[in-house]
Amino acid sequence: MTGYYPWQQTQWRQLAGRLTRDSLSHALLLHGPAGTGKADFAVQLARALLCQQRESDGQACGACSACLLYVADNHPDSQLIEPEKEGGQIKIDQIRALITQMALSSHAGGYKVAIIRPAEAMTTAAANSLLKTLEEPPAQTLIMLVAEQLTRLPATVRSRCQLLHFNLPDEAVAQTWLAQKLTETGANAEQAPHLLTIANGAPLTALADVEKNLPELRQTLLEALTGLSEGRLDPVRVAGEWLKLEQPMPIKYLYGWVSDMIRYQQVAGSFADRVDYQKVLHSLSANIELQKLYTYLDRIAEALPLMTQLNPLPIIESLLVQWVNIPKS
Ligand SMILES: [Zn+2]
Repeated sequence: MTGYYPWQQTQWRQLAGRLTRDSLSHALLLHGPAGTGKADFAVQLARALLCQQRESDGQACGACSACLLYVADNHPDSQLIEPEKEGGQIKIDQIRALITQMALSSHAGGYKVAIIRPAEAMTTAAANSLLKTLEEPPAQTLIMLVAEQLTRLPATVRSRCQLLHFNLPDEAVAQTWLAQKLTETGANAEQAPHLLTIANGAPLTALADVEKNLPELRQTLLEALTGLSEGRLDPVRVAGEWLKLEQPMPIKYLYGWVSDMIRYQQVAGSFADRVDYQKVLHSLSANIELQKLYTYLDRIAEALPLMTQLNPLPIIESLLVQWVNIPKS
């Protein structure tokens, strides 16, 4: 990710201003609901602090040696403290090691930065061991704690940090952002409002859900298409399965795949280096005439707008029956 999220502009301006005036607090506590990008914001701020040629809006340049080290996960003045296992605790040894590190002078001669996430995962002993450093921080250090629930942090820790709150973004902002991301991943951007609702308005949660489910779903649909081609599956039965999905998503996939099949027939060359699903599409259409693929693509294009107006089941059935019946050479 480059840059902060569009809904974090207020927080960014606030901190970038302090960064420019060199008046950043030594300990920040970024808090707010899950899926709003607090930790990503912390990373952007860390990058900006370490960057040697910040942009005018305070963001990291992305090109200097410090930025390149950061991207390579290799900046000696930057630390990320997380539970060793997902969902586990942050232990006192991890915090002690961090404190020792923060007390040393920086490698690059500038700031030393640490992100602790989720801060609630610190054991009581770990949190207590951090107190003294929060109270008397070494010069040119910044510790960022990232938390969803402030109440799960000891009051002594909270009171020693400057609080930075992150709200859920406005619906319109979140929808625009998510639709853009869905388009980039090849998913249906029209799902954005629906997905946001499921994710309680948290855009990063919505995107993560899609990223988790999409590859699997695509695989299932593609296996069905292969099974139909090979005569192993019955189109009416497959249509019944596809009907259970959000419409017209499976038919949009079908449209995309047939378009790909046409493209693959038009480009010469080996498919050895393609990803799996491209190879599958290539072999599924290898013995179908190009003209037949075009005709079928037209049928799908005609059917798509009807799917939301009419009962989708007969439309899906008809398209799958047509797929099975395309003459093979
Ligand atoms: Zn830079």
